[in-house]
Amino acid sequence: MKRELVVVAAATTAAATVAGVAFLVRQWRRQSNQQLSAQRILREFARWCATPTSKLWQVANEMASDMEAELTPPGDRGGNLGVPVSYLAGLPTGEEKGTFYGINLRGTNFMIVRGKLEGRNEALSDMSRQEIEIPLHILSSDDSTKELCDLMAVEVAKFVGLHVESDGKVGERERILGFTVSLPVDDLLPSSALHSKWRRLSFNDAVGGELAQEMNQALKKHGIEMRVYAVVNDTIGHLAGGRYYNKESVAAVSLGMGTDVAYIESLPQQIVKESSSEAAETAINMQWGNFFSSHLPLTEYDASLDAESADPGCRIFEKLISGMYLGEIVRRVLLRMAEESALFGDVVPPKLTISYSLRSPDMAAMHQDTSQDYEIVQAKLKEIFDIESSTTLVREMVTEICDVVAERGARLVGAGIVGIVKKMGRLANRKSVITIEGGLYEHYRIYRNYLHSTVWEMLGTDLCDNVIINHSHGGSGAASIFLAASQTDH
Ligand code: ADP
Ligand code: MG
Repeated sequence: MKRELVVVAAATTAAATVAGVAFLVRQWRRQSNQQLSAQRILREFARWCATPTSKLWQVANEMASDMEAELTPPGDRGGNLGVPVSYLAGLPTGEEKGTFYGINLRGTNFMIVRGKLEGRNEALSDMSRQEIEIPLHILSSDDSTKELCDLMAVEVAKFVGLHVESDGKVGERERILGFTVSLPVDDLLPSSALHSKWRRLSFNDAVGGELAQEMNQALKKHGIEMRVYAVVNDTIGHLAGGRYYNKESVAAVSLGMGTDVAYIESLPQQIVKESSSEAAETAINMQWGNFFSSHLPLTEYDASLDAESADPGCRIFEKLISGMYLGEIVRRVLLRMAEESALFGDVVPPKLTISYSLRSPDMAAMHQDTSQDYEIVQAKLKEIFDIESSTTLVREMVTEICDVVAERGARLVGAGIVGIVKKMGRLANRKSVITIEGGLYEHYRIYRNYLHSTVWEMLGTDLCDNVIINHSHGGSGAASIFLAASQTDH
């Protein structure tokens, strides 16, 4: 009896063990199949995103020829870059000296700045800045330009008042107030009415003209002896800043949430025939976010991102390279892996389905995680997507996706820059300084490194010294100070 029991018990244990092992084998098989499937998705994505040097040159050449095409008279245009907006006032010479004021109108706020210039070899100093939120009732109406200008004038008056002691009275000679606009790209912001109006500014000098006029009336009404000469895009201000420090500065690139480029064109009569300006050169805001080429390495993830965006078919280049979109591309790849390969378990984490939930600073933090077990990656997965745990292998895969997306974006920016310098005919025998500004470039180290190394790779040791990439210093609002300086008669 006792013996029988033992035998039965032993048989049961053996059966259980066999069943357990079989379960483990099945689970292991399933997991490794899932891993293989995730790997396959990743490899395929990486292959689509590849940017060998030959492809980068195709992009650069097309960028150069599109820029050329934009300069032909309207009607004959073949390019994709959008109508160029030119800015005909002079750029700084580097000799400007004095205290200057500026204003930078942004998404939901504006910043008033003041700073001191003492010539090319001295950095911008004594900066003061003040940021003011724009009330919602102004933002939500596209008819509120007057009200906004009133508000800005009142705030400028207060700001100038604070500095009267050190700067002396403004009134002795009418001063120029440098005025820049940074176009918001974030459609998730609540203020679309006024935004869409500002956005037209980059296509339409008249909107800028109207804003300048309203602002001048408001300044006058409030008794401020300052005048806005022209309202321009922030990127042109950064180009002015670059030019102040270096005569060879020929282009400025913004790489933040959105992206934009201003460059110097030496043939103004081709563009603005009716202009009587004697300027030998003009700054052009080239709207490079609109660039499109069949050589761009677009994937199905980019296609669906674009299709579901607020402006399908538009700003394709921007959607590949700028801070607004990088994290979203990564999220889309992760979602597919979660759905098809159970990357995060049998249930797809609900938060992973929320568009734009992964922002580029978080993507950069995961990408740049050098800890032993990718602890930052896991912390971000938890924080953003509520994913409780993940294997080291999965975390590694996450960083690889970030790498593919950042590398592709940064290399395309590098190719675009080479294209611009080529268009200017400056690749050989001349130095060109490119000023880059924006949070993405400033804070995403790996992205920045890819960008720099791509320019070297494309130009080779012989030519790469001719293209010098500088980070724009001075921070937010500084661009408007350089504009004020260049618009002031000396
Ligand atoms: P904007 O285009 O609004 O002027 P900024 O130039 O201020 O933007 O840069 C902010 C953008 O830069 C953010 O929206 C983000 O996309 C990107 N960014 C900021 N910090 C980081 C970071 N640490 N890593 C990666 N991207 C960042
Ligand atoms: Mg910016």
